[in-house]
Amino acid sequence: MRLTIKIGSNVLTRKDGSLDVTRMSALVDQIACLRNEGHEVILVSSGAVASGRSELKHIQHDLDSVDQRQLFSAVGQAKLINRYFELFREYGIAVGQVLTTKENFSDTDHRKNQENCMRVMLENNVLPIVNENDTVSVTELMFTDNDELSGLIAKMTQSQMLIILSNIDGIFTGDPAEPTSRLIRTVEPGKALDEYIQDKKSSAGRGGMQSKSNVATQTASAGISVIIANGKKDDILVKLMNDRGNTPCTEFLC
Ligand code: GLU
Repeated sequence: MRLTIKIGSNVLTRKDGSLDVTRMSALVDQIACLRNEGHEVILVSSGAVASGRSELKHIQHDLDSVDQRQLFSAVGQAKLINRYFELFREYGIAVGQVLTTKENFSDTDHRKNQENCMRVMLENNVLPIVNENDTVSVTELMFTDNDELSGLIAKMTQSQMLIILSNIDGIFTGDPAEPTSRLIRTVEPGKALDEYIQDKKSSAGRGGMQSKSNVATQTASAGISVIIANGKKDDILVKLMNDRGNTPCTEFLC
């Protein structure tokens, strides 16, 4: 199966904002395991801005939000891809960095170039690690968040499944902190979940559950099943692929 896996900033960062290399390493182990089982993986990873911010803690003066994003992502993306490169190399897996902007998904030559880049990497068994090019994508050039980007990548690469890893088990019928709230296990095609979605957003990333739900609905309607699950849980990816019935997650059926 061809899988697009999106890892959110909150999965990859600790409470103090630093990069959680232990978690990253565990996710790399799992992706290597999925590849051994015959799956093809495309990774969409956030975490550039968060890891750059924690690296540049010493910066005292105020920066506006655009400057912050550009500066932190420039530093953080280098750190992030370097870690992935080393971790995957232990398994003999070659990875490639794909930094992109919204323009590359519009109906132009840009799109052809983006498509070709994904194709040539997959054909040559190189695992693409995709992120938004936060250093230059500003205002209208920006994706809503990496959830949107992961949906576009899943469609472009004709993945059979999109797995969105966040720091929560999936979509609940109410506030996940309330004992009466129940995890929604499956979502039938076209079913709206707006009544259940909380406005609360986790700290490190741009997206929230509303955005994940919208992307999941659209992607599932394009024939790609989507799973939202908790990337902080041990062996989550392997369990989702091999024992989904006993693994907490929300699955959007297509
Ligand atoms: N591209 C951003 C980063 O790597 C994350 C965007 C998002 O949170 O969706 O830091």
